[in-house]
Amino acid sequence: MKRLVAALGCSLGLCSSALNAETLKVLLIDGQNNHDWRSSTPHLKKVLEGSGRFSVEVVTFPGKGGDMTSIHPSLEGVKVVLSNYNGDLWPEEFRSDFVNFVRAGGGFVSVHAADNAFAKWPEYNEMIGVGGWEGRSEKSGPWLYWQDKIVRDVTPGPGGSHGAQHAFKLVTREPHHPIMEGLPTEWMHAKDELYDRLRGPANNVTVLATAYSDPATRGTGKNEPLLFAIAFGSGRVFHTALGHNNGPDLTSQKCVGFITTLLRGTEWAATGKVTIPVPADFPTDTAVRSRE
Ligand code: ZN
Repeated sequence: MKRLVAALGCSLGLCSSALNAETLKVLLIDGQNNHDWRSSTPHLKKVLEGSGRFSVEVVTFPGKGGDMTSIHPSLEGVKVVLSNYNGDLWPEEFRSDFVNFVRAGGGFVSVHAADNAFAKWPEYNEMIGVGGWEGRSEKSGPWLYWQDKIVRDVTPGPGGSHGAQHAFKLVTREPHHPIMEGLPTEWMHAKDELYDRLRGPANNVTVLATAYSDPATRGTGKNEPLLFAIAFGSGRVFHTALGHNNGPDLTSQKCVGFITTLLRGTEWAATGKVTIPVPADFPTDTAVRSRE
């Protein structure tokens, strides 16, 4: 089995020393989302397990309005929770377990619309740093954008919007952060939604990468933060605003840039270190690179 996993990892261009390291347990949560979680969850699981670094357990909460208390996920042995979820509030017992887990040194990864979730849950918003929609406003915290440095803009207004989907360029803002070390400074990301005007408490946030939100595609004209590392207690959060999907084509999530930053971000959230290498087929500053 180990050899099979290694072979799969190699076929994905991820042949590395990471394959010999401890396997990190990921708890992937789904069940509600305004995106097609039924196609993205198997993809995310395959990507994570294909690296040879992770094992993934999926927990699916009931659909909207369902009895959320029917499930109480265990965090026993889990190194990192990954949310592919945007919907009804998790039950109080699990919310408390989850906050304690991250605060005590566990990892959390928020993918795309997971940062829309739980606008009124203070600890969750501390973890993701900034989020969008679901009634977010200046009361949620500042807008963040990059203008030579990170600007915290407290101007009143809604939190979260996006223009037309397109391929766009990510620009690294923290080249020496373990997640970013060795990545090109600029790289093209496959067609995706470019989230803008996210707002939140934005405490203990490191902006890893931004993208220019072009008014020509109905953007803000600002360099919008899209990859974040956040400290929460003794724990670590990796927040990727990338990864929109409305169906099984999964264009944005097949981008090698999305895949690589997700893998490295998840490893960093779990352990505080990154051993997963930057693959040879990583996108360049002019070319999108994707895997089927
Ligand atoms: Zn989306």
